[in-house]
Amino acid sequence: MVLELKSKVAIIGAGPAGCICAYYLKDCYEVTLFDFGNPLRTLLPTGGGRCNLAYAEYDFRELVKFYPRGEKFLYSVFSQFSTADALAFFDEIDVSTYMQDDYRIFPCSNSSKYVREKFLCALKNVHFLREKVLRVERVNYLFKVITAHNNYNFDKIVIAVGGHASYNIISNLGHKIIEPRPALVGLVCDKNFAAISGVTLKNVKAEFSGKELRGDLLFTHKGVSGPLIYMISSLMARENRPYKISFDFLEKEIDLQKILNDNSQKSIKNIISDFVPKSFASYIMNIVGINEDEKAHRINGAMRDSIMDYLKHFEVNVIDTVADGEVVTAGGVDLDEINPKTMESKLEPGIYFCGEILNIDGFCGGFNLQNCWSTGYVAAKGVMQR
Ligand SMILES: Cc1cc2nc3c(=O)[nH]c(=O)nc-3n(C[C@H](O)[C@H](O)[C@H](O)COP(=O)(O)OP(=O)(O)OC[C@H]3O[C@@H](n4cnc5c(N)ncnc54)[C@H](O)[C@@H]3O)c2cc1C
Repeated sequence: MVLELKSKVAIIGAGPAGCICAYYLKDCYEVTLFDFGNPLRTLLPTGGGRCNLAYAEYDFRELVKFYPRGEKFLYSVFSQFSTADALAFFDEIDVSTYMQDDYRIFPCSNSSKYVREKFLCALKNVHFLREKVLRVERVNYLFKVITAHNNYNFDKIVIAVGGHASYNIISNLGHKIIEPRPALVGLVCDKNFAAISGVTLKNVKAEFSGKELRGDLLFTHKGVSGPLIYMISSLMARENRPYKISFDFLEKEIDLQKILNDNSQKSIKNIISDFVPKSFASYIMNIVGINEDEKAHRINGAMRDSIMDYLKHFEVNVIDTVADGEVVTAGGVDLDEINPKTMESKLEPGIYFCGEILNIDGFCGGFNLQNCWSTGYVAAKGVMQR
């Protein structure tokens, strides 16, 4: 009888990155997945419960451009495992997918719960230990995983503890951690928007820090949110606050004086409501100090200029991000210390990293899960190569 002894690999963190890594290692290694919570529970809220699992950009040279942090590093990672590979993986675990008009890819079930069930099914041979890892240490040729209950020895370690990370478990390994900051998050402003909380404006132009973006904006009690703001929060994640954003709410240039002349008996609120939502038109009239029912012929030049100023140069100062509201963190393990061909630590061979613990984050649209699928696969391949 030949006794086959498989190498032992510990994966710490059973989120999307750790789980895909386990999937690709499970047949060749004795894999143990550690997590203090239920495996893949972090997949459940993704895409509002629908799981936006990828983005339909199949050229990895283009895909990397959606990552404010990690672009250069991901070039090598995505050349090994890109969008098509992620979709092939989902096909393999019996999750069929479809693309929305905006190129975001979802499971046909539109259910992250379904994706999680299928994924867990595919991992049924992987040993799961529900324990919090406190520390990882090298002991000669092995690694010791220390939890609150026990010590375990492994040949190799994959660290996939996510962005809200337990950086302390690797503090002794000497890796530089870029301080994590919230990204893809609502912004808190110096103005109170309680009166227009919930109001959405389409295709707003924003200017900030010498940059210009267009997108949909949502007013919240404390500030601003929505796709446009998520993108700004991502691009400004590492900048100092306060910073200024100037919004232009008009999709095209208008000659307000001519519109007032042509509609002299119409109320100013109804005129402005042709360009922005009614509740926002009322809000503007209120801050300008004009009765919203005032007829157009009674609006003088100063009032007209003031209205136009608020519509085209509406300024807010961003003083904070919404607490605990981030979709992803900007920051994490410094990429200079990781080999992008294998995800192995350059400081501690035998230790691999994948997922959001790395200093990689993308925009909204499936890019952050794609980072998990790709770095998780490359880490598995890296483990197999050594
Ligand atoms: C509300 C919301 C919606 C999102 N929607 C999308 C989306 O639609 N598309 C997209 O691409 N991205 C989305 N994201 C981002 C995406 O979910 C994350 O980027 C992704 O989950 C990161 O995966 P990860 O495996 O690296 O880390 P995580 O998912 O954070 O998993 C890490 C795991 O490690 C475990 N862990 C941590 N420390 C320890 C320890 N010391 N010992 C043991 N276990 C530990 C945690 O319990 C956790 O289970 C969303 C995020 C949020 C918050």
